[in-house]
Amino acid sequence: MGIGEKIRDALDSFARRHAVDEKSVKALIRDIERILISSDVDVEIVLKLGKEIEKEALAQELKKGLTLREHVLRVVYDKLVQVMGEGYTMPLKKGRIMVAGIYGVGKTTTAVKLAKYLMKKGLSAAVLGADLSRPAALDQLRQLAEENGVRYYGIKEGIEELPSVISGIKEDVVIVDSAGRDGMDERLKKDLQRTYELAKPDEVFLVVSADMGQEAKAQAIAFREAVPLSALIVTRVDGSGKGGAALSSASAAGAKVAFIGTGEKVGDFEEYDPKSYIARLLGMPDIKAIMEKFKEAGIEAQEIPEEITADVLLQQIKQARKAGPLDQLFSMVGMKAKKDEAAEKMKKIIAIIESMTKEERKDVEIVKKSKSRMARIAKGAGVGEKDVASFIKEFEKMKKLFDKVKKDRKLRGELEKMVKNFG
Ligand code: GDP
Ligand code: MG
Repeated sequence: MGIGEKIRDALDSFARRHAVDEKSVKALIRDIERILISSDVDVEIVLKLGKEIEKEALAQELKKGLTLREHVLRVVYDKLVQVMGEGYTMPLKKGRIMVAGIYGVGKTTTAVKLAKYLMKKGLSAAVLGADLSRPAALDQLRQLAEENGVRYYGIKEGIEELPSVISGIKEDVVIVDSAGRDGMDERLKKDLQRTYELAKPDEVFLVVSADMGQEAKAQAIAFREAVPLSALIVTRVDGSGKGGAALSSASAAGAKVAFIGTGEKVGDFEEYDPKSYIARLLGMPDIKAIMEKFKEAGIEAQEIPEEITADVLLQQIKQARKAGPLDQLFSMVGMKAKKDEAAEKMKKIIAIIESMTKEERKDVEIVKKSKSRMARIAKGAGVGEKDVASFIKEFEKMKKLFDKVKKDRKLRGELEKMVKNFG
């Protein structure tokens, strides 16, 4: 079970309690502390968080209309968001960016991801290989850049070439992939400082991996002594149960986080927002991220229709396949599915909808009310009746979500409200 699921379980069992009192609140806090510590979050951070939750959950006067239960859940959510630190918004303008970090954290991948991100935002961007520490490093960057339609530049013999290479670059933004090492030492420090002096970057991002967990703090401190850092980029937030540990420890080091890497593909890269992070960790839909994915896939908001019917969903699913890994899309809309399961599930859903009559696709309610319709659809789709029933349940959940979104143009505001009301 992942950390998010564990916390959600703890919150669920708290929310289902008959009586909420000081004892049950304290038990919830101990549960959360235990879960966070076992996922490598710094003990000091956890204990401070626990204390703060306890103080606010029990001492504060209840807001009008809020039960103690709701109040506690809201405090927990707010504090979790707080402990995950602040996001750093990179200005979208012409300039130079340097990425730094030790070996294997995802620096080179991140350089190309960042270039792609800027290109999506309408700037032209190129990458510059300045890592002569390993013979294959420049080739790796060049290849990844070329595969993804990003212009590559590189130095050949020595770091002193940097200024002349940079002066020949026409793109709005150049991202310099600097040399790494196994750890911070005097040589790396010197290399970084030299690269910094020669490249004169506007932004320096330290790349750390979520697998590092609370080690991210020490990294931030060590690199900050060598060069001025704008913010961190945390990679492998997808595969590691230690994302929360890395993010909270970055914050404890006083560093902001600009982006997170959520997969190996170049598109698996997002602006970091602690609210979205916690919302998704706890399995609540992050509407803004969904909309971004749709936009990237060329599905414009106006194509999202007035009403969500099964037919519309079918079209959306077929289009969404262009938007990226299905398991990610699933988790964004609050549906649980593992990587392979997601593809299976998508196939099932398509089969189910395609086995529905026109009338049923317009209004799935009528399927819910009829056992014979349910059986006919299951047979037609080659799935169990249970699958049909669970699809209808999930569809209704999704429909509610879309209806809510439609009512309010400020998606972000809507998400926040939803998250705050989840108890
Ligand atoms: P560098 O040594 O710091 O330049 O690291 P690389 O860019 O060569 O990346 C090392 C490995 O991490 C590669 O296999 C990447 O595909 C992988 N990687 C990088 N970022 C992510 C991420 O956000 N998620 C996942 N799952 N893998 C990543
Ligand atoms: Mg590299």
